[in-house]
Amino acid sequence: MTTPERRTFAIISHPDAGKTTLTEKLLLAGGAIHLAGEVKARGANRRARSDWMKIEQQRGISVTSSVMTFERPQADGSIITFNLLDTPGHEDFSEDTYRTLTAVDSAVMVIDAAKGIEPQTLKLFEVCRLRSVPIITFVNKVDREGRNPFELLDEVADKLALDVCPMSWPVGMGGEFEGIYDFATNRLFQPHGPSREFDDSFQQFAGLDDPKLAAALSAHGLAKLRDEAELAQGGYASFDLNAYRHGDLTPVYFGSALKRFGVGELIEALARYAPPPRPQPAEPAPVEPERGDVTGFIFKVQANMDPQHRDRIAFMRLCSGRFKRGMKLTPSGTGKPMAVHSPILFFAQDREIADEAFPGDIIGIPNHGTLRVGDSLSEKADVRFTGLPNFAPEILRRIALKDPTKTKQLRKALDDLSEEGVIQVFYPEIGSQWIIGVVGQLQLEVLISRLEAEYKVEAVLEPAPFDTARWLSGEARKLDDFSGINRSNMAKDRDGNPVFLARSAWDVGYQSERNPDIAFSATKER
Ligand code: GDP
Repeated sequence: MTTPERRTFAIISHPDAGKTTLTEKLLLAGGAIHLAGEVKARGANRRARSDWMKIEQQRGISVTSSVMTFERPQADGSIITFNLLDTPGHEDFSEDTYRTLTAVDSAVMVIDAAKGIEPQTLKLFEVCRLRSVPIITFVNKVDREGRNPFELLDEVADKLALDVCPMSWPVGMGGEFEGIYDFATNRLFQPHGPSREFDDSFQQFAGLDDPKLAAALSAHGLAKLRDEAELAQGGYASFDLNAYRHGDLTPVYFGSALKRFGVGELIEALARYAPPPRPQPAEPAPVEPERGDVTGFIFKVQANMDPQHRDRIAFMRLCSGRFKRGMKLTPSGTGKPMAVHSPILFFAQDREIADEAFPGDIIGIPNHGTLRVGDSLSEKADVRFTGLPNFAPEILRRIALKDPTKTKQLRKALDDLSEEGVIQVFYPEIGSQWIIGVVGQLQLEVLISRLEAEYKVEAVLEPAPFDTARWLSGEARKLDDFSGINRSNMAKDRDGNPVFLARSAWDVGYQSERNPDIAFSATKER
């Protein structure tokens, strides 16, 4: 049997660009909808989510990532399954976001036509570039006044250093919006009715010179489309599948998620161009999806989805093999084989329990803390996936208890939450005050709120005399010497690795220059 087709992707965008709206429309277009966040919240438990999720509701943001799956039959009768991994869209993004991007094969970048490339888009793009993740660009909200399409294309090209290839073109925007013209198919999609929504109808033309276009568009709209299309097709790169798949070129689609314009073309583009499951970086050698036995890695752990139960769901990206329920896999963290009896496959619309999964799929594995972010799982215990980093924290705080008798509970909670990737925790060599490290401010709020809700621990955060942290590696003797001299700056992470807490970035530079035998690393790979 051939492996079923998969497209595993994420949407990256700045808050408010329309990611949620686009996600909804993609799922609607795909028919099958199953939200991973609801896996545990069925029936009577539907409301039984832990309190920290209130932060999401109050602030109207999504802190959790989830997996959404939809299918689309192709013209040749085959079915493609799309796995959409959601990334938290808030400006204060966390390591969760980065890690989710390690589990996808491609990404859709949503840009607000009025705003262009915004800071969060850029940050997320840079993470994609690190792994050469190919990007399809969707310029959203053309039903509103936006910037000139040429200006937007140039901005993508300049700010992201990518070749851009317009695949479709908006005929006017905002009040003048008359439709989207698709260059590949010569189809025109137009707004209809009082809602000005896309109603699944289109007109087919022979090309931009087709005289019949005059009946579909205003004279002004048609003249503009012909002029602009000529410039656009002449002035930018033409589509090149290899360049796209290497992450050097981005095809650009114009549309309106709200009014459903461009959504079908986007799915079509994902089906046609986006890469199927890619080989994953691993030791001793990259893992090809064709490899016969099952391998995968954990990119996310979500604990306490239900406050009544202390279990967690580890999200595993399947990299090779055909997964079957009950199969024994060995996590690299413990080295002890575990049988995966009740995996959650998000693909199954009404079934919670998966029977089978294929490379590119995401499997939720319930466990009691044995699985950690970054763990590799395999049948033969012979693979370690690389490139799932911990990131050097940008904000460091001391954590103090309101009730000092709760030290043990706090330690347990911090270990748990750092396993989940919510925070990092450092235990200094001198003194008893533990240090919390995060990449974004929001993680600190989540921490305090979860400590209270899930562990009944009240804690406060205080300024720490450190600005950043680096993982140290090198010869044991050299490390010992260095630690001896710099005791007040030394700590251990939750796995006992030595960490240098620095007063400033300058401090890091200074120390690494003076200690050429020690590597000061801003990321730590598990
Ligand atoms: P997110 O923060 O990226 O998930 O953005 P949302 O999907 O929540 O959208 C932010 C706002 O933009 C909402 O008010 C949406 O209704 C609106 N919006 C999203 N897509 C479009 C669009 O294509 N056209 C218009 N006019 N508004 C849109």
